[in-house]
Amino acid sequence: IADNFFRKVSVERSTELEFGGRIGAFFMIFLLPTITVILLLMCSQKDPSLMNFPPALPSLDAVWDVQVFGLVVLWFFFQALLYLLPVGKVVEGLPLRSGKRLKYRINGFYAFILTALVLGVAHYQGVDLSYIHANFLQFSVSAMILSVLLSLYLYVRSCWVPQEDLAPAGNSGNVIYDFFIGRELNPRIKSFDLKYFCELRPGLIGWVSISYILGKLDAPSPAMMLVNGFQLLYVADALWNEEAILTTIDIVHDGFGYMLAFGDLVWVPFTYSLQSFYLVNHPSALSLTWLVTIITLNLIGYFVFRKANSQKNAFRRNPADPKLSHLRTIPTATGKSLLVSGLWGFVRHPNYLGDLIMALAWSLPCGFSHILPYFYIVYFTCLLIHRDARDEKQCRRKYGSAWNEYCRQVRYRIFPGIY
Ligand code: NDP
Repeated sequence: IADNFFRKVSVERSTELEFGGRIGAFFMIFLLPTITVILLLMCSQKDPSLMNFPPALPSLDAVWDVQVFGLVVLWFFFQALLYLLPVGKVVEGLPLRSGKRLKYRINGFYAFILTALVLGVAHYQGVDLSYIHANFLQFSVSAMILSVLLSLYLYVRSCWVPQEDLAPAGNSGNVIYDFFIGRELNPRIKSFDLKYFCELRPGLIGWVSISYILGKLDAPSPAMMLVNGFQLLYVADALWNEEAILTTIDIVHDGFGYMLAFGDLVWVPFTYSLQSFYLVNHPSALSLTWLVTIITLNLIGYFVFRKANSQKNAFRRNPADPKLSHLRTIPTATGKSLLVSGLWGFVRHPNYLGDLIMALAWSLPCGFSHILPYFYIVYFTCLLIHRDARDEKQCRRKYGSAWNEYCRQVRYRIFPGIY
């Protein structure tokens, strides 16, 4: 019965479209690169005030550089090579609709260490890493081109895969929407999982590598050290706990298309490093009290974020885990339960709360002269509120009355007492 049900569901078209449907997807395809370019141009200005918006746009010739594109492609394949190293354990993901479980190699942290070593040696050998800062816009445009090429490949190959391999939300039948949202859930070339690879490697390691290089151009100031240190902790943590990504929405629910390809290869490395990019040309002084306050804020955010994600991941992998036996749960008709005490009983998305507290701590070192370095926290709040709404919808559909009971017991979504 279950087999027939899933077969029927999988051939059905996705009718509930997200992100403003076809029109929203169409605009997002152009809006995301436009915002990236504007942010980088604004940040390059001597006075990055909003009064100087819009910045002067460079010509197409000025942003395209074949050598830069070559370096971006080289970076991508270097990370792919590290991903293929036969080190680290192999784990299984959550069961797919077909009942199958995919295998994933956990070696992201090794890739991170090896990348750091290569960058360190390059720096020591006198390689001019400031080339990246001098050609920052060109690098971002090359990464955009790579993400579009990857998305086109992903869309085309998805036309040949069996229906059961498509993401539940990525099969609307509209080319633009499906290209944007991603059709295939786990596109793989043999055992090389393209989505899993892109989620944590070229972009995330690229982000901290860029921040590190930008940091070298600064004095280094305490503000730059804070931003880089916090972001290094975030990325090292994500790679150390790489296995936890296997229970996230990106891996379990979303297909791999332009939205994630652009996010992973462009948005994360080039807009998440905006604070470091800003500090290179706009230094900010910090008092000792302010420094300690910001570090404390980041540590609180990190604790909430890590504990919530680890608890949920451990619970989903083994609901009978004795370390979690003190937590209360609500059973659901699907056989899975929901955590309803501890951090998951405080708000319904404690991991988002922790992430947002950290996001604030990453912007504060940049001072209060300009709004630009606060772009990250503003954008991230919108992203996570929207993501929470998407997730609530999915969970209500999956768990019905049990989800309503969870919402009754845990009233707030992300911000206790507010939202
Ligand atoms: P979650 O990891 O929170 O996953 C949501 C899923 O968890 C739900 O669909 C449900 O899935 C399960 N769940 C929800 N409530 C409970 C509960 N009470 N008990 C047990 N399981 C529950 O979402 P994301 O994938 O969005 O986020 C993962 C992390 O990544 C977060 O920390 C987030 O902040 C971060 N993130 C960071 C981004 C960045 O750009 N820096 C972007 C996006 C996310 P099911 O029941 O099917 O298991």
